[in-house]
Amino acid sequence: MPRSMHDYNPETDALADKIVAYARARTRLDPIPLDTARTAEELAADCGPTITAEGIGGDKALDLFEHVLAPACLSVDFTRYLSFVPAAPTEAAVLFDLVVGAMSTYGGSWLEGSGAVYAENEALRWLSDLAGLPAEAGGVFVPGGTIGNLSAMVGARKAAVQRCLDEGRPEPDKWAFIVSKTAHSSIPSAAEVMGVDVIAIDTDARRRLTGDGVQAALEEHGDRVCGVVATAGSTNLGVIDDLASVGEVCRERDVWFHVDAAYGGAGLAAPEVRPQFDGIEHADSLIIDPHKWLFAPFDCCALIWRNPDQGRAAHAQHAGYLEFLEAYGDWNPSDFAIHLTRRVRGLPFWFSLATYGTDAYGAAVQSTIDLAHEAVRQIEAAPHLRMVWEPGLSIVVFERIGWDAAQYQARTEKMMHEQTAFVVPSRHDGEPVYRFCFVNPRTTSDEIALIIRELE
Ligand SMILES: *Cc1c(COP(=O)(O)O)cnc(C)c1O
Repeated sequence: MPRSMHDYNPETDALADKIVAYARARTRLDPIPLDTARTAEELAADCGPTITAEGIGGDKALDLFEHVLAPACLSVDFTRYLSFVPAAPTEAAVLFDLVVGAMSTYGGSWLEGSGAVYAENEALRWLSDLAGLPAEAGGVFVPGGTIGNLSAMVGARKAAVQRCLDEGRPEPDKWAFIVSKTAHSSIPSAAEVMGVDVIAIDTDARRRLTGDGVQAALEEHGDRVCGVVATAGSTNLGVIDDLASVGEVCRERDVWFHVDAAYGGAGLAAPEVRPQFDGIEHADSLIIDPHKWLFAPFDCCALIWRNPDQGRAAHAQHAGYLEFLEAYGDWNPSDFAIHLTRRVRGLPFWFSLATYGTDAYGAAVQSTIDLAHEAVRQIEAAPHLRMVWEPGLSIVVFERIGWDAAQYQARTEKMMHEQTAFVVPSRHDGEPVYRFCFVNPRTTSDEIALIIRELE
């Protein structure tokens, strides 16, 4: 008799204790180490064969994971991990992710996941209300901003195609989106997948897409444009486009207005920076990644449609065996993006919001904005450093005076190998710079001071 994989027996129970204890210990870990990337050869040498005909057993697999594989994964929640956009999931969100895994809920339809989908919708509603979208707005949690942007852009094109049909006009040879030159790389990537053009226009002196710029591009490219993509929190600098003027031009010209707030959207919860988002309430579609700055575990992006029917028109899949679902409520999350089967990935975020309350979220986001202010103070006081850009959100970009790109690179590697910090160089107007992105409320001003000393 082969060992059954689906029996919950005393052996399973013993393994459960070990796994839960390990997960708990990782959650409780303080301080969290950065850890290091290793080569496949090194890992193979330390692991030996892991997939075998007989199985190596849960104890051995867990032991390998804990002692060899996990230390070869960088901890994005390490408090001096300030590169890219880190993550700092709350305790409740991390723990509840275990429950989501234990349940295997199918999150594609209301019939199969109503309780979980209801809770996800509560979390989406909070975000939608922060943005000032109407009560009927709604959507779905998708894996990330890339899929969210692609799904929204497909919706924009669908609406434009439908309008051509309704008005008896021919479609243009090739549709296009107006975006700013600082838009995230996922936007041109989505356009490539869709086979549409990107019209990348210049920003103003503050690096913002503006209504005037969009107006001029619309005059030039006219009926070819099926949407405008604005960014609320650019990834490199944290700049928020002039959403009010861009939104107004889109309304006047009846063009789809998509807002990519993957990183920056969390700022909606912080009164100090909320005014920078004015105009976001006019979005036809909006994405925010709670896995970035809203303390949810990977992977979790909120995609919100002003009019969910437009999401459905673009994405609902039709098949004989799916018809049964339609009798049980019309809110099927699979209808709102490019996917069918889905994990209820918004649940850890919902559980954490329910546990701590939205005030705690506003305060936590503000605490990371305060860290950015503190970093600016320390950088301005450091003779070897110079600020490059006045931060609008929680991203701080600065120069190490007198260093070339190789010196930036070398110091980054030294700090990484010594486990002091994970701060990779970026570029600003072609010049090497350092960039701190604060999303972890556990980071301290002493840690900022430590990194600044390391850059001497
Ligand atoms: C991170 C980011 C994305 C992509 O999101 P993923 O979740 O990594 O796919 C898109 N736009 C902006 C502005 C981002 O910062």
